[in-house]
Amino acid sequence: MKPLEVEQRRVVVIGAGPSGAIAAALLKRNGHDVLVLERQQFPRFSIGESLLSHCLDFVEEAGMLDAVQAAGFQIKHGAAFAWKERYTEIDFREKFTDGKDTTFQVQRAAFDKLLADEAARQGVEIRYEEEIVAADFSQARPRLSVRRLADDQRYDVECDFVLDGSGYGRVLPRLLDLEQPSDFPVRRAVFTHIEDRIDPASGFNREKILITTHPEFRDVWFWSIPFSNGRCSLGVVADANRYQGRGDDLDAVLKQFVAETPSLARVLDNAVWDTPAREIKGYSANVKRLYGPGFALLGNAAEFLDPVFSSGVTIAMRSASMAAGLLDRQLNGETVDWENQFSEPLKRGVDTFRVYVEGWYEGAFQDVIYYDKSSPDIRAMISSILAGYAWDLNNPYVAEPRRRLRVLAEICTTE
Ligand code: FAD
Repeated sequence: MKPLEVEQRRVVVIGAGPSGAIAAALLKRNGHDVLVLERQQFPRFSIGESLLSHCLDFVEEAGMLDAVQAAGFQIKHGAAFAWKERYTEIDFREKFTDGKDTTFQVQRAAFDKLLADEAARQGVEIRYEEEIVAADFSQARPRLSVRRLADDQRYDVECDFVLDGSGYGRVLPRLLDLEQPSDFPVRRAVFTHIEDRIDPASGFNREKILITTHPEFRDVWFWSIPFSNGRCSLGVVADANRYQGRGDDLDAVLKQFVAETPSLARVLDNAVWDTPAREIKGYSANVKRLYGPGFALLGNAAEFLDPVFSSGVTIAMRSASMAAGLLDRQLNGETVDWENQFSEPLKRGVDTFRVYVEGWYEGAFQDVIYYDKSSPDIRAMISSILAGYAWDLNNPYVAEPRRRLRVLAEICTTE
């Protein structure tokens, strides 16, 4: 019997989410053969709908900015924060780092499909409903086993390099024993989409994500992400313990949290709750390392911190851009250093976000955000980070985040 032929490719990307689509397009634009294997059919639901400005730099690098701008997504200029009767806005147009002023609030089903279609338009081959089920990195060329969902048939692909953009699927971390527990506590998000019916005369700003802190529990917060079609993504995030005694009915749980938070309940007074709520529990994840012989991990397949500053898609795209750039040079015969040219510089920005996420839950960064007398210069530096420019070491709040945040929080609480 003739042995089954193993397909030979240059690069295989696992997953057609934002990290996979951007990485694949960038490699294709540099002339490399790329195959993307995606286990779902697109469009498919994904959470993570509020983008940061910096991610559009990578959308632009991948030649997809015109398509994204033409798609009719809700324009976003920043973030608003509300706690009891306090309200403050951060405007991405007033920021320290040069960069994009505007971004979008997107239904991810449409956004991710658009990015994947744009990658395909540029020549990337994407196979949907094909799932990576095994990986062998013991030989010179990595080999992946693929299951076709339509007929449950399996085949193998060999390639020079694998980029894992499998997000919550965490394909290579699972298969190569790279998982490492996150330092963050187990938090749980419950969320839905609503027809928001927010009165335009109420002053509510649709061009910003609204982050609302629970009046009593400062570690509990809500996102409201208005879309351009009169609908809104709404979610609550809390330590898993805070859900005790609230029952199993997710819609009721979410409504109860909102009812406890008068400023948000007022905004959503006329909303039509027409979509069953969903949940994600214990979303924070980490890995032992971001790369190895023949592979690198992108986006959520590597580390995921927390949704509070909407950094997930930006980190995913930044990792895709950095990995694709380095891999291009490697495929062209250069010797590259994945530790110092990928892992270490990527982690620098992730660690900046980490400091502000930790500061948010501890309260220090909330004190800074809700303090209304900070200087415009400091607000511009904070605005840069919240716009995603967390790698700009010229920003003192990026260069020394922990010390700067501590000092600033002290000023905000003693004045
Ligand atoms: P994904 O978007 O998860 O894409 C991975 C793809 O890989 C999927 O399409 C999946 O089907 C495919 N795949 C998985 N396994 C396999 C397999 N075995 N074979 C083939 N394909 C496979 N980020 C933001 O930027 N803004 C936000 O407002 C925001 N809010 C969030 C709220 C919550 C509650 C959570 C938990 C996260 C939030 N995020 C947010 C984070 C965001 O969802 C992710 O960071 C982002 O989707 C990561 O993109 P990715 O390309 O790495 O992975």
